[in-house]
Amino acid sequence: MKIIVMLGAPGAGKGTQARRLSECFGYPQISTGDILREMAKAPTALGKEITALQAEGRLVSDDVLAGVIEARAALPDCERGFILDGFPRTLDQAKLLDRLAREQVKEIVLVRVIVPYETLMKRLTGRKTCPLCGEIYNTLSRPPLKEGFCDRDGSALVQRTDDNEESVAMRLRAYEESTAPLIDYYRTTGRLIEIEGDRPVNDVFEKLLSVIGKKEGATREC
Ligand code: AMP
Repeated sequence: MKIIVMLGAPGAGKGTQARRLSECFGYPQISTGDILREMAKAPTALGKEITALQAEGRLVSDDVLAGVIEARAALPDCERGFILDGFPRTLDQAKLLDRLAREQVKEIVLVRVIVPYETLMKRLTGRKTCPLCGEIYNTLSRPPLKEGFCDRDGSALVQRTDDNEESVAMRLRAYEESTAPLIDYYRTTGRLIEIEGDRPVNDVFEKLLSVIGKKEGATREC
């Protein structure tokens, strides 16, 4: 039973790869960014706070994240394993994850997707997502077959409100300040698998499967 953790800067392709892994392994993909975007819709003080932090590209507090992850990981679909996309982002979150893994007797598999800074900026500002199925496109590296529409279900694609240059710069700064030290910590523990992400999506996925272990835990061939 595994917890596969996808680490990397915003725009590194964590979400795209996590989504494929989820389909392949039959594990749920837990994107804290998506969960928080849903929570932000609530007309509450917390909802407003999350909206403001996300718009500015700043991190939501570790306390809020602890509640989110504990509740989500306790759901029955996580029993066999799950994939984390966007969590942990701080050392405190990493400690919480270690405790959770011990409690649930699961092995943590840490994968970092490395992409150069200039590519991240280009990717994020060109990113479009399907609001219906969540498929992620990019005007430069992965355009949809019909511009503006999802290949899978034909929905009109949308751009995330924090995928503008100002928010992206802030998000990349938050990554450098809060998440890069976490990467250093994981590297010293010898538990970190690092893969090159500035390559076609399929190549990155093949590499990912080769390092994680292709069939173990898989519900179907992939
Ligand atoms: P993402 O979709 O992963 O790019 O996350 C979008 C935004 O949600 C981030 O810029 C943060 O404001 C917030 N967020 C997502 N995950 C976390 C986390 N693990 N810790 C703190 N804030 C987060």
